[in-house]
Amino acid sequence: MITIESIALVSIIISVIALAFEIKRNNRKFTYAVLKYEALQASFKQMLDVTKYDLGYFNIERNRDNSDIICIQCNSRLPHDLNYCVHCGERNAPQENLLLEEGGKYGIVSSEENMPSVYVGQRETFSVAKIRACLADLYLFTSQNQYTHKHVFCGDRVATVSNEFILAQIKSTEVSNNVNDKTIVTTTTTETKHYRGNSYQYSTYNDQTSSFRNRSSTLNGKVIIEYVSGETRVLHLREEILGTLDVGDWIAIAYCSTKFAEGNRYNLEYFYNITKSKGFNNQTFLNYSDNRGALVLKGLNILFVIAGVTSMVFKIDLGIMMSVGLFGVLNVYAIFAALVNSSTNSTQRKAIFKPLQAKIKEFKHSIDKLKNQLDVL
Ligand SMILES: [Zn+2]
Repeated sequence: MITIESIALVSIIISVIALAFEIKRNNRKFTYAVLKYEALQASFKQMLDVTKYDLGYFNIERNRDNSDIICIQCNSRLPHDLNYCVHCGERNAPQENLLLEEGGKYGIVSSEENMPSVYVGQRETFSVAKIRACLADLYLFTSQNQYTHKHVFCGDRVATVSNEFILAQIKSTEVSNNVNDKTIVTTTTTETKHYRGNSYQYSTYNDQTSSFRNRSSTLNGKVIIEYVSGETRVLHLREEILGTLDVGDWIAIAYCSTKFAEGNRYNLEYFYNITKSKGFNNQTFLNYSDNRGALVLKGLNILFVIAGVTSMVFKIDLGIMMSVGLFGVLNVYAIFAALVNSSTNSTQRKAIFKPLQAKIKEFKHSIDKLKNQLDVL
């Protein structure tokens, strides 16, 4: 006899069996999904590990190497083990020795138009690494000097001045651009009243909308440069210069960093983008001025004026004479001492800057030739 209890029992048994099957099915489904996910991950990883060289990219563009040589005839960059230039057919005789003239300068060949000046007057080719080393030797420059800034009414301040001339290539630019864009909308409503005879009938309204867009942007960022000698460095440059820089550009920089006890100053003395033939004007440390102590002079002058006026009020002749006299002596002394100091300070700065300015001048003279040399590096 079928009782409710037996139906319930059978139902429970069936439910438990169905549940067990369902759990098993779900587990299998989950394991399958995990396997699929892992297989996908593995194949993505495999794909990401494929380099452009695995795909035969080196057959399209040759890898640049520091042992590459430059053809003396057509200025092409070639692998060092080629005996003949693939562009012009010129025979290349790889050669190890760069002939150094006295003083460590490289000979300049004027008869060979294509020949970079750092190569000596022989029909030989040089590796890129050697050309880089020569350019580093010719252009890179650093100096460090002590500078004493003299003041009239306060103690002298001593600074360490470091100058550097850099020839480098932009390796990466991390520039973020903040754009501020605001539009101001103004609506003007004009009411025109309509009359019939003298009695007011109705008004019409005319809306005029004008908008003014105010857009400003600032660039913030740093660039990573690689010196011609191979060393890399991070550089912070101002917006105006940053905006014109691209990866691969060759640049020349002269800068001066001055360390006073109270803080550092940084002057970008010269900046030139060789690739884009664009220079920037900068503020030089040569024009540095600091007239601290001027407040002391002002304070003393005010004191003498007060003393003079007080003496006049109380009719103290000696007081008036002394105030006027000291006022005169103090100011004549201040003007004279300021002139002497300013001249001493300026002479010192000029002396410190002479080697750096010579480097800048040398660079400016050789920009065109240098550009040709850098094009193949
Ligand atoms: Zn050639």
